[in-house]
Amino acid sequence: MGNSYNWNADANNVSADESLNSNNNNIPKPRAQRRLTGFLPSEIKAIESSIPLKSRESWKKHTVTNFSTSDEFEESFVRHVETTLARSLYNCDELAAYQATSQTMRDNLVTNWNKTQQRQTAKDQKRIYYLSLEFLMGRALDNALINTGNRDLVKDSVSELGFNLEDLISQEPDAALGNGGLGRLAACFVDSLSSGDYPAWGYGLRYQYGIFKQKIIEGYQVEVPDYWLKFENPWEIARKEIQIPIDFYGYVEHSTDAKGVKKSNWIGGERVIATAYDFPVPGYDTKNVNNLRLWSAQATTEFDFAKFNSGDYTNSVQATQRAETITSVLYPNDNFDSGKELRLKQQYFWVAASLHDILRRFKKSKRPWVELPDQIAIQLNDTHPTIAVVELQRVLVDLEGLSWDDAWSIVTKVFGYTNHTVMQEALEKWPVDLFQRLLPRHLEIIYDINLFFLQHVEKKFPGDRDLLSRVSIIEESNPRQIRMAYLAIIGSHKVNGVAELHSELIKTTIFKDFVKIYGASKFTNVTNGITPRRWLKQANPELAELIESKLGSDAYLKDLTLLKGLEKFVEEEDFIKAWAQVKTNNKARLIKLIKELTGIDIPNPEALFDIQVKRIHEYKRQQLNILAVIHRYLSIKATPAADRAKKFVPKVSIFGGKSAPGYYQAKRIIKLINSVSAVVNADAEVGDLLKVVFIPDYNVSKAEVICPASDLSEHISTAGTEASGTSNMKFTLNGGLIIGTVDGANVEITREIGEENIFLFGNLAESVEDLRHHHRYQGVQITESLQKVFDVIDQGLFGEASEFAPLLDSIRYQGDHYLVSDDFESYLKAQELVDETFKDTKEWVKKSVACVANSGFFSSDRAINEYAEGIWNIEPLSATD
Ligand SMILES: *Cc1c(COP(=O)(O)O)cnc(C)c1O
Repeated sequence: MGNSYNWNADANNVSADESLNSNNNNIPKPRAQRRLTGFLPSEIKAIESSIPLKSRESWKKHTVTNFSTSDEFEESFVRHVETTLARSLYNCDELAAYQATSQTMRDNLVTNWNKTQQRQTAKDQKRIYYLSLEFLMGRALDNALINTGNRDLVKDSVSELGFNLEDLISQEPDAALGNGGLGRLAACFVDSLSSGDYPAWGYGLRYQYGIFKQKIIEGYQVEVPDYWLKFENPWEIARKEIQIPIDFYGYVEHSTDAKGVKKSNWIGGERVIATAYDFPVPGYDTKNVNNLRLWSAQATTEFDFAKFNSGDYTNSVQATQRAETITSVLYPNDNFDSGKELRLKQQYFWVAASLHDILRRFKKSKRPWVELPDQIAIQLNDTHPTIAVVELQRVLVDLEGLSWDDAWSIVTKVFGYTNHTVMQEALEKWPVDLFQRLLPRHLEIIYDINLFFLQHVEKKFPGDRDLLSRVSIIEESNPRQIRMAYLAIIGSHKVNGVAELHSELIKTTIFKDFVKIYGASKFTNVTNGITPRRWLKQANPELAELIESKLGSDAYLKDLTLLKGLEKFVEEEDFIKAWAQVKTNNKARLIKLIKELTGIDIPNPEALFDIQVKRIHEYKRQQLNILAVIHRYLSIKATPAADRAKKFVPKVSIFGGKSAPGYYQAKRIIKLINSVSAVVNADAEVGDLLKVVFIPDYNVSKAEVICPASDLSEHISTAGTEASGTSNMKFTLNGGLIIGTVDGANVEITREIGEENIFLFGNLAESVEDLRHHHRYQGVQITESLQKVFDVIDQGLFGEASEFAPLLDSIRYQGDHYLVSDDFESYLKAQELVDETFKDTKEWVKKSVACVANSGFFSSDRAINEYAEGIWNIEPLSATD
């Protein structure tokens, strides 16, 4: 194998055979041959003239057109049932009907995808490549129908054919290639990039198993594999002809060329092939369809003759099989670095394939390398793709022959890095030994990057040895580790946090020294956002319709600040009634889902729906919520029956979320919620004053039902720990109020909607360190009301007390790192205020309207425009033709 970096390993240029077997940098002879995509405008003429006129005419006559009428849709649907699926009128079940509907929709997307790619190639503007190890896309069909404006037509058409569109939509499995907020952000961003006509590609991995499915058995989380590709996936285009060789292990050869220049050459020891799967991403109200390219690992077809000849045939085949494990499973940790070797392999596999693809595309234009930063921007979604910084430097220096300095100046202009957390346990580090084995040349380059960086620091701050060891990419621990966040900062021209508070915090805590070195202007903020197409129009069609009827158009879906226009209707009696009715209908929809999933009856749809759905994590503090629920339960029981209705509003406490499989403290929280649910829901004395529900297997399509149904949602992380949060935005956009801490984007939500419309409580981020210090040296103060809750748990009211002891002990004896005790009273007070406010229904509904009217800022379109302008320097490319 050796150093066979073949730029043309892509069937868009050459055949798969050529790409696999050539082991030098031979550029194929220019030929006027027909190719799939990616030809330059100058080449089109040559290709055209090589095709006989008659052929061209036949071809043009049969150009594929998109369906645009019911008749055309139905014709294509039936054709797909009978040919693609090889079925008929008599055995077309709902799954088949979903498949045929999707295939028909896909046909439209693919033709627009082709035109978009040709347009982008022809115009050759600067493009943005968004690298994310997670894309939590959810379902594609409904989204495609909405974005292309075909939903009503398709609903009527499938109905004529004997199907109900909603039933077909629900046949689709979620594409759940992500853990939570970070992956969903990437999904919202690709929607906004397409909708804003930006020339943009997403790059990720096509895991065969997405995030596990969560079953709740006897109150415990049980993980079940999510084999989401069980049936044919109509939304992907398999490009098996694209085969990019990716090497691992091996050694580095050093030499000096005739001119005395030192050369390094990495000889890989194991090769895996990356094949591409493309997912068309349709924009809303535009013909622009961008590409999300996910890589899949395949065994190389090169045969190991040494092993074969030694008679070790079976082992030889097994080794190739191992290749495929690289993209078999998504690591199920959210905000936690597990440091597994296979994870690092995933990262390099994905990054090397993506960069190869990006650079191949650039090289076709025959521009000099200095122009690379004018043509491409690459965004690193967290540190997961940071090795791209090193890989690009390696390609430019080792393979393209640039000098170190010229290469490095290009590299640092190309990358931007988005930080997603300040929590130590989530910051990625890799042992130096692991790098040495897996990516020996990359380790050398990291050492050089570090050396030159530290020399720069030494020059600027002479003699500050503490500073040098604090900012070194290499942590001198045992074992020595590579700090990926530092590498990402040093290799990028901009570093951004994801909400104002978070972006300030990174500058004053974890990256403080780098602000000193680079100045504050390298560090910036882009507050996260969500796409209103999925999170309003698709998730809450009734609210979208009411809004459209008041605003007179659906233009707000492209400019979400237009929602402000709703404010002038808050005094209209009919409007307020209609608004309240939509919420009630959405709550009824959730009641039905809860019944299906848990068997629990919610008797009172007028009850206050208080919802906390997100990954289960100590920092997100579901334990604070459930402890307060227990407190409420005890308070109800301690109040004379006759006084209860006056004192308490009926409430349903709803939880949902997955725990990482190895995160035992989070799993105890799930068990406690389910145990409390069992006791409270069975207590006739409490009746409908309190119900507790844990919705199993929280995912995107469930979020679409849950978010529109909240009266109140909980975003109650320990101040300073939640970088932004995005479900806070989803709930606000759907007219739910928030109870929350002064953390993440809650701060900006408060600014936008007004502090009279949110229930804030708790200690501020600036107090957290002092409180933790106090706990360490003076112990933790457990208040009377919290002690009562601990007592009933200890007494076994919710089953075996020892099961929950580690949870309570972490608060009372182990320093209460997440400040549950410090915030408990203030949380109860905020909940009392919620009850009081909810009693005045009309006032509550007005607050709900205020939330929606002032949500405009939280559109991911706004976030993408900020990235485009402030970080990427890219322009939209209009799709009108
Ligand atoms: C939006 C979303 C998240 C992120 O929720 P946070 O409360 O911001 O952590 C996680 N999971 C799913 C399925 C989501 O849709």
